[in-house]
Amino acid sequence: MTECIFCKIITGDIPAKIIYETPELLAFHDLNPQAPLHALIIPRKHIATLNDLTEADAPLLGQMYLAAQHIAAQAGFAERGYRCVINCNLDGGQSVYHIHLHLLAGRKHSWPPG
Ligand code: 5GP
Ligand code: ZN
Repeated sequence: MTECIFCKIITGDIPAKIIYETPELLAFHDLNPQAPLHALIIPRKHIATLNDLTEADAPLLGQMYLAAQHIAAQAGFAERGYRCVINCNLDGGQSVYHIHLHLLAGRKHSWPPG
């Protein structure tokens, strides 16, 4: 049995507030939101980090960004803008080792990030 919390969200063993889903992807609200809209977009396939992505997974990443575009537009943030982030490993600030795209919207984001 998997110990991955995001795989458990996919199977329904851990509840989440689902925003959007496709046969390949799931998007849900972050438990500890860092913006008025903070969605996590994940592939149903378990891929631990960006380092583990293969050529064959490349279309999946495109679908993840298109899902972010769709969710941001649906929530009315397309024009104002938003931020999409994938953290990788320790220095990247990754804490859950199932690849995920953060979609943050509804506030101004600074650059460089912390
Ligand atoms: P990371 O730090 O790996 O880039 O992001 C992991 C994110 O997952 C964090 O923003 C954290 O708040 C969120 N998170 C961790 N556990 C859960 C959970 O059980 N449910 C939901 N919805 N989000 C979670
Ligand atoms: Zn997983």
